[in-house]
Amino acid sequence: MAYDTDNVFAKILRGEIPSAKVYEDDFALAFNDIGAARPVHVLVIPKGAYETQSDFIANGSDAEVLGFWRAVSVAADLAGVTDGGYRLIVNTGEDGGQEVPHFHVHILGGGPVGRMVS
Ligand code: AMP
Repeated sequence: MAYDTDNVFAKILRGEIPSAKVYEDDFALAFNDIGAARPVHVLVIPKGAYETQSDFIANGSDAEVLGFWRAVSVAADLAGVTDGGYRLIVNTGEDGGQEVPHFHVHILGGGPVGRMVS
């Protein structure tokens, strides 16, 4: 399936809609989730046009993949959750409950996030 260039995260990357930025580098942008599910809820997205985790790993360069995951760690540091701990979630595709078709990692924390329920 072709990447949808009109998805909301593509618009954020192009600066067409605002975001509450936590961190940005050549590989990734991290910003607060608009519907925070926990006291800390940061989304990290690669700068490239990748729809899912599978697409990113299949088609992203080694530099993009490494740069992206480093950015996830930096964003967690900046959000203040590295010491206390946090949960990473990647919803992938329809069965995975992915709503925005641009690969992203959720960082959840700022207190106990509870047990995994599904
Ligand atoms: P997912 O279900 O994994 O695709 O998650 C998409 C996430 O994007 C949800 O947690 C939404 O709250 C979040 N979201 C949607 N639009 C925006 C936006 N404009 N700024 C920040 N977060 C957003």
